[in-house]
Amino acid sequence: MKAAMWYGLHDVRVVDVAEPPVEAGMVKIKIEWCGICGSDLHEFTTGPITIPVNTPHPLTGQVAPVILGHEFSGTVVEIGDGVTNVQIGDRVTVEPILTCGECVQCKSGRYNLCSQRGFHGITGGGGGFSEYTTIQSDLVHKLPDNISFEEGAVVEPAAVAVHAVRLSSLNIGDSCAVFGAGPIGLLIIQVARAAGASKIVAVDVSEQRLSKALELGATHIVNPTRQITAEVIHDVTDGHGVDVGFEAAGAELSFRETLQSVKPNGEMLIVSLWEREVSFNPNWLVLDERKIVSSVAYCREYPEVISLIASGKINARGLITKKIQLDDIVEEGFKTLLTDKTHSKILVAPTLR
Ligand SMILES: [Zn+2]
Ligand SMILES: [Zn+2]
Repeated sequence: MKAAMWYGLHDVRVVDVAEPPVEAGMVKIKIEWCGICGSDLHEFTTGPITIPVNTPHPLTGQVAPVILGHEFSGTVVEIGDGVTNVQIGDRVTVEPILTCGECVQCKSGRYNLCSQRGFHGITGGGGGFSEYTTIQSDLVHKLPDNISFEEGAVVEPAAVAVHAVRLSSLNIGDSCAVFGAGPIGLLIIQVARAAGASKIVAVDVSEQRLSKALELGATHIVNPTRQITAEVIHDVTDGHGVDVGFEAAGAELSFRETLQSVKPNGEMLIVSLWEREVSFNPNWLVLDERKIVSSVAYCREYPEVISLIASGKINARGLITKKIQLDDIVEEGFKTLLTDKTHSKILVAPTLR
């Protein structure tokens, strides 16, 4: 079968690999759509970040080259012995987080913080940029009839946004700012609206992304190349600052601006991944008791996220800006996302339908 594999920096190839076997407790899925994630781009431009290169990943036993793709939907085509939660023919999506089940974090229920955490589609074990993949059955979630396969491929990033907002201190009626209107930022905007935020300020350098943000629930927009972010936040919040600033851009300027947008005793929540270090003045925290918190992946939230998409509270379709086939993933997918910021989520199918 065809699969897109990460070989190294700027080196992703579509190659022919063996179809994965179905073992006991595993489910084989024929991939319908798989989204390209910011973390895939990070691995392409500055990796390896979490892809194992020299030491095999403790849970998958694999090193690069690995199959990429962790945001996918598909149809169950085979089940291993002992699988009872899904049947052949079911339409599904996958929670691609791999955990040991043994460490303190796993045992306390916070499996997203597992000491050996891996991701199907990043750290080996197969992935969604391929024709088929196999994964343990408890990570497979059925899609209701009113969620399309395209929307099913957006459940994973939507879960990242739901987890972030749940971990934040955001309460109904609060104001927030979302720095970075890429896919995760646009999803946080929708989740914050669903959670009852009264004011949602979206900050991004792309006009197209800002208009998308307005369409999906932002109440105010700021383009820092044309406006002074702090002034807009000041005006919108009557000089107080926002209750919660979500950092979803992963850039130094945005880090500082998020912190500076937050009211005294307010909170900045970091959800983005970083390619380099940042510097900031801790007085911004200390003098007004501001807080920095963070959020990674998701933990037992897939059923709720699927319901939020099914009920229309999260518009997953609104995020999808392009659909391509696997053979074109580098040129039409990765390179397009890196150069053309009008795009949000690009979905990849093994063969275009
Ligand atoms: Zn992702
Ligand atoms: Zn663990």
